[in-house]
Amino acid sequence: MMKIKKLNDFNFKGKIAIIRVDFNVPLDKNLRITDSTRIDLGIKSIEHVISNGGKCIIMSHLGRPKGNGFEKDYSLKNILKYLSSKLNKEVLLIDNYFRKDFSIDNYLNKNDIILLENLRFYSEEKDNDFNFSKALASMADIYVNNAFGTCHRTHSSTNSINKFIKNSCIGDLVDNEIFNINKVLYEEKKPFTAILGGAKVSDKIGVIEKLIDLVDNIIIGGAMANTFIKSKGGNIGKSLFEEDNLDIANHLLKKARDKGIKIYLPEDLNCSKSITDFNTKTFNAHEIPNDYSGFDIGKKSINTFKKVILNSKRIIWNGPMGVFEVNEFSNGTFEICKFVVEATNEGAFSLVGGGDSVAAVKKNNLENNISFISTGGGALLEYIANGTLPSLDLIKK
Ligand code: AMP
Repeated sequence: MMKIKKLNDFNFKGKIAIIRVDFNVPLDKNLRITDSTRIDLGIKSIEHVISNGGKCIIMSHLGRPKGNGFEKDYSLKNILKYLSSKLNKEVLLIDNYFRKDFSIDNYLNKNDIILLENLRFYSEEKDNDFNFSKALASMADIYVNNAFGTCHRTHSSTNSINKFIKNSCIGDLVDNEIFNINKVLYEEKKPFTAILGGAKVSDKIGVIEKLIDLVDNIIIGGAMANTFIKSKGGNIGKSLFEEDNLDIANHLLKKARDKGIKIYLPEDLNCSKSITDFNTKTFNAHEIPNDYSGFDIGKKSINTFKKVILNSKRIIWNGPMGVFEVNEFSNGTFEICKFVVEATNEGAFSLVGGGDSVAAVKKNNLENNISFISTGGGALLEYIANGTLPSLDLIKK
């Protein structure tokens, strides 16, 4: 398991820390925060630096600005008040910090906590531009990466910044993520079940390959299951699938079979003629009429998945079982969510990650009933597949 520097490896007294956080919170049309989880989870590392006598420069992205300057909708001004109130300290937001005559000292003399305006207002951030990362690194003594959800990205503030700063470490949020992901992957308790869903097999090939070496069962739902069902010769009607990944799906099924790992695919699917047609019918997942698409798993599948989940001692879940955003096709995903909670209450260790699965858990107000909710989607999958992430590698001891 990787060794990595942590906050406690440094004395922050009299030092300036530049902390990469993920304050990419959702905003409503009035630019008010609708879910503050990402900020709430990022506070502790900032407090750690301040209470140890250091000063903090906080940097984050927010949304998807064009990358050529200020855009009101994506300004970190939208989170400034909330952040200050959470820290119980004034936070100074500064813009236009990537220029020759810029000096952070002028601001740090006035304030202990500085928030740099949205990193992605500069196209250099996503380009992993060395001049940009050098400018960020030159502002501080110690770099702290506390943005797990972006650790798989090779951006200036997560990646090449490490080249230009001598001292770096992970923050408590990243530390927690690594601890809990390793716990679910490598603890002894068995059976270990992975539940995967969503649309694309392509995103999850590396993860499934890796999980086959670690788990006892893999439950597959959502549109990605269609690719597997079709690869076995099933008729999936008009259901969404990935033509290019049929061979890979077949290879994964064979690999699992050879290793004695059970892969559970849906037996039945709730189908309709289009996503706006709620005249639903349930069909055998291998015999969907040509004018129907599967949009959710059916009752038989739910029952089979339930037995597997309730019998599990470790569970990892990423991806919905159907088009859960549409009420009529959300049942499968929400039922799975309840079974994961039930298993957790019976002593299983559960980890849920990825925007959609976490949204499903939150919609049912069950976030306190899951052992660990990961802030990563892509980062989580990549960490499972490779046992590390590009940006974390650069912080190794
Ligand atoms: P992904 O980005 O691969 O995790 O996919 C997430 C998306 O897959 C969600 O927006 C779901 O609505 C969608 N999805 C899940 N199951 C299906 C399905 N059977 N047909 C179409 N879309 C689906």
